[in-house]
Amino acid sequence: MRPTTTFTREKPLDFNTTLANLTSDIRASFFLTTNPTQVAHRQQQYERGIVQLSFLHNNIAHDFTSDTRTTIKAIFDAVNFNGLLHLSRWSNIKDLSDNSNIDWAATWNLFGNHINAKKTTTSFKHSILVSFRTKLMMDELPLMNNLVKRHPDVYKQEWKCVMCLQEQESWSHLWRCPHLAPRIAALIQETKSACVNLIKDIRPVLPLTFDNTWNSLSCWDLPTTNTNHVTFDLIIKGFIPTAFTTAISTVVNKKETSAIIDSVISVAQTVFREEIWSYRCDLFTEWEASKGITTAIKKSSSAGFVRSRASVNNRHSNSPSIPDRWKSWIAQAIDTGRPWLGFQIHINSLVASLVQHFIKF
Ligand SMILES: [Zn+2]
Repeated sequence: MRPTTTFTREKPLDFNTTLANLTSDIRASFFLTTNPTQVAHRQQQYERGIVQLSFLHNNIAHDFTSDTRTTIKAIFDAVNFNGLLHLSRWSNIKDLSDNSNIDWAATWNLFGNHINAKKTTTSFKHSILVSFRTKLMMDELPLMNNLVKRHPDVYKQEWKCVMCLQEQESWSHLWRCPHLAPRIAALIQETKSACVNLIKDIRPVLPLTFDNTWNSLSCWDLPTTNTNHVTFDLIIKGFIPTAFTTAISTVVNKKETSAIIDSVISVAQTVFREEIWSYRCDLFTEWEASKGITTAIKKSSSAGFVRSRASVNNRHSNSPSIPDRWKSWIAQAIDTGRPWLGFQIHINSLVASLVQHFIKF
């Protein structure tokens, strides 16, 4: 009953860079401490799977003694996450992340819940949902602006949104499309009140200041040209704003906060899929039929060529210029003794399933 996006170690490495590059990069950052007085001590530690190493970053050695497996795992997590964060499609996410506007622990927790969802649904239905949520996160819904790139011989650049005929359909257009506005307003309202209802189940009387904080969160807003805020569409993509988690955690405990976010946002994503996306797809299919765009035409289009070129670009656009931020994360983690980037959980398998999906496109 596991989703098809199971994790293998080779794939994310293949995606980020070559294995040889990666390992030589990691190897170049380490050296064993050579202080002779510590040799006996170190050997003893090594037998218990603990090793004393120095991690070299910007010519500063960060010494640490650690269980090797955990450390190496943290490094691979950091390298993978670094790769994902520097994809061009995530440039906005990277900026928000740099300003600490995204709660990554909550974000991966939500995504992980989808991957590890209870076996109450069929694996087929489950894998469709995982795939949909992955596409949301990776900006891969077949919106007109994406279709024009994938099948330029079928879809014309000048074609407008089939629902309002005002501008080319894109993710941000979806949120300002006048035709969808009532559905979107209802989704935001329902998401907001579902959170408050769950909070009130735990804490029936909320502090007077809560309403004000809650209503002024930027995550209830629609996307604008100001990309410094985490707006509602990003929540639907699965990115949890730090301010959202913070607001809820002022009135309930950490575990309750996490449970509320997971259940409400999962439902909000499902409602988006069923009430907004499927609705749009029905209209889109009708419109395609009126244009004579059939499944056969789509299949025989230049998709294969465009896709393989796109995937080559995506793969290599991040490898030569990708900053070595993971090194400073690891260096900080060593120095402070805290998990890199504040993670409490292993994100590798989650990032890997995104990455694996990404390879298919
Ligand atoms: Zn529209």
